[in-house]
Amino acid sequence: MTPYEVTHGKGFRLADHDPRADSGIGGKKAGRAEVAKLTVRLDELHDKLYADGRHKVLVVLQGMDTSGKGGAIRKAFEGLDPTGVHVATFKAPTETELAHDFLWRIHPHAPEDGHISLFDRSHYEDVLIVRVHDLVPQARWKARYAHIRNFEQMLADEGTVIRKFFLHISKEEQAARLQARIDDPHKHWKFRKEDLTERERWDDYQEAYEEAIRRTATRDAPWIVVPADRKWHRDYVICRTMVETLESLDLRYPEPVQDLSGITVT
Ligand code: AMP
Ligand code: MG
Repeated sequence: MTPYEVTHGKGFRLADHDPRADSGIGGKKAGRAEVAKLTVRLDELHDKLYADGRHKVLVVLQGMDTSGKGGAIRKAFEGLDPTGVHVATFKAPTETELAHDFLWRIHPHAPEDGHISLFDRSHYEDVLIVRVHDLVPQARWKARYAHIRNFEQMLADEGTVIRKFFLHISKEEQAARLQARIDDPHKHWKFRKEDLTERERWDDYQEAYEEAIRRTATRDAPWIVVPADRKWHRDYVICRTMVETLESLDLRYPEPVQDLSGITVT
């Protein structure tokens, strides 16, 4: 288990977590080599998960703008057979989604047996941006922490393995990444001027994340607070956590349904 896993939220403080931590690996070259080994192993385990078909896995990716949620999906889960992966991206809700409870649009994307669902943003937005911008009355968003805990516990009790990653970047690193989006024409599509007004609410978001983690980190649905200023380290922590998680499931390939001994294909 990496030291970044939070299974009991009580007393959790974001300030105790350094976004620049590197797990003692030292540098990018060594880090990328570790990631390459882990992704090969993760691919093997995913194949087994799919064949085994007794478990399902939900991965939640959350983090500030530019924290690397998309990058993590591309890099940390590189090489997985897309047949067994479902990626769900949660943007600002549509009118129809807003007319329903906040979990209505989430639940259909929960994984099926043998599959991994990757959430790029999630139901946590409903206690993050919604809280920071007062999009619903306080009493409504406050009640959501318990609803989220119960929803995730239900998924876990029904056989879903849950890992929630908070990609923790520093305010300085976000400045550099936003600037890169402005400077590189190929990244302009990722940038909106509103990203800068969101950045002004940095402290409010950090507080909202801290409380979300405090209230929803459980043994069955832990948060992993990923030091993510270095992209290779972000991928390293995610891959390692996923490898350890799948290894703990005691996955096995199913026995053949028929006796195959002595059969030769001619
Ligand atoms: P991006 O991830 O940059 O494409 O932006 C998606 C935007 O949708 C972010 O600003 C999110 O905060 C916002 N968003 C996602 N879910 C919700 C939600 N439930 N309510 C309001 N805004 C949301
Ligand atoms: Mg954005």
